Amino acid sequence: MLHKITLIPGDGIGPEVSEAAKRCVDATGVKVDWEIALAGSDALIKYGNLLPAETLDSVRRNKVALKGPIITPVGTGFRSVNVAIRHALDLFACVRPVKTYAGVRAPFKNIDLVIVRENSEDLYAGIEFKVDEPGTKQLIEMIEKLQPKKIRPDSGISIKPISRFASRRIVEFAFQYALKNKRKKVTAVHKANIMKFTDGLFLTTAKEVAAQYAGKVAFEDNIVDNMSMQLVKVPQNFDVLVLPNLYGDIMSDLAAGLIGGLGVAPGANIGKDTAVFEAVHGSAPKYAGKNKVNPTAMILSAVLMLKHIGEEKAAERLEKAVSIVLAEGKSVTYDLKQDRNDPTAVGTSQMADAIIEKLKNV
Ligand code: NAD
Repeated sequence: MLHKITLIPGDGIGPEVSEAAKRCVDATGVKVDWEIALAGSDALIKYGNLLPAETLDSVRRNKVALKGPIITPVGTGFRSVNVAIRHALDLFACVRPVKTYAGVRAPFKNIDLVIVRENSEDLYAGIEFKVDEPGTKQLIEMIEKLQPKKIRPDSGISIKPISRFASRRIVEFAFQYALKNKRKKVTAVHKANIMKFTDGLFLTTAKEVAAQYAGKVAFEDNIVDNMSMQLVKVPQNFDVLVLPNLYGDIMSDLAAGLIGGLGVAPGANIGKDTAVFEAVHGSAPKYAGKNKVNPTAMILSAVLMLKHIGEEKAAERLEKAVSIVLAEGKSVTYDLKQDRNDPTAVGTSQMADAIIEKLKNV
């Protein structure tokens, strides 16, 4: 079967790591008709727009995209092109598997958990009021009329909306994910003891959803500060974590640290009809064009994409090929060597070549 997939190369190191991932997918034998769509600096040059409608249309049409990281130039009207893509396509679930691979230096062995982060609301809704602006003053006055607490007049304000709808949708997603992937437990992470009406709503909703899965998937909840401590102490105790947007963002990077860093942390943004697969890391501009950075996170994101489009066997083979190259530790980028200045480190495309070579025998 031929799959039509949008490829957004991104900018900074994006084009290099996406090319590596594309070549690995093609080498599995899965037939893909790649539709290249621009976003970020290249799109700004060609279309005068960081996120052209053509790019979003391509993802809507093909329903699946592999995307490189994108830098957001300051003063362009976008908080982040990446967040704008998630919002425009309503990619409400961010799924980040956190797994240790032999050969990657990490503080723990045998971690295998999944972070499910709500992507559409919370403090990332982008509803903000700047210090000293008339609207901010009005808002402060209104809030002080509605409740007794005072807000300092020289405050900036960010709004944190958490809805029953989005909480239900993301927790449902986490339980469905657990069932589909034979996971045993979902942990809802929150700060409901302090933010009773936002995180509190998230928690109550999570408990309601969990009740429908009783006997099938276990459920527990944990406060985000306690969770941070537990995650760096006993990460093996966790299976699927479901979190509102901000905590999910922070916990994902923390978890990436547990398995050896951003170079090996893949991700997926999933909506009702569309899915965009991308590494957790950013566009690392200082390494752009140097054929230096680790393509693993992007290639493992492609593994998630292959699973998503029903190419399970190819996904398994590609993951196996990656894990062999990592375990051998020979044809790997500088960040995976014991010494970051090790002259035997290979470049981005050479590491992809080594993975493609292994694919022949797995
Ligand atoms: P970053 O992830 O680009 O870099 C953080 C650190 O990790 C750097 O030291 C970098 O060298 C290292 N690193 C990142 N990817 C690596 C790889 N594949 N191999 C080896 N080392 C790697 O984060 P940043 O510096 O905070 O952000 C740079 C730009 O990327 C910013 O403009 C930011 O907005 C953007 N960004 C984009 C995304 C995305 O596209 N989804 C995500 C995060 C940040």
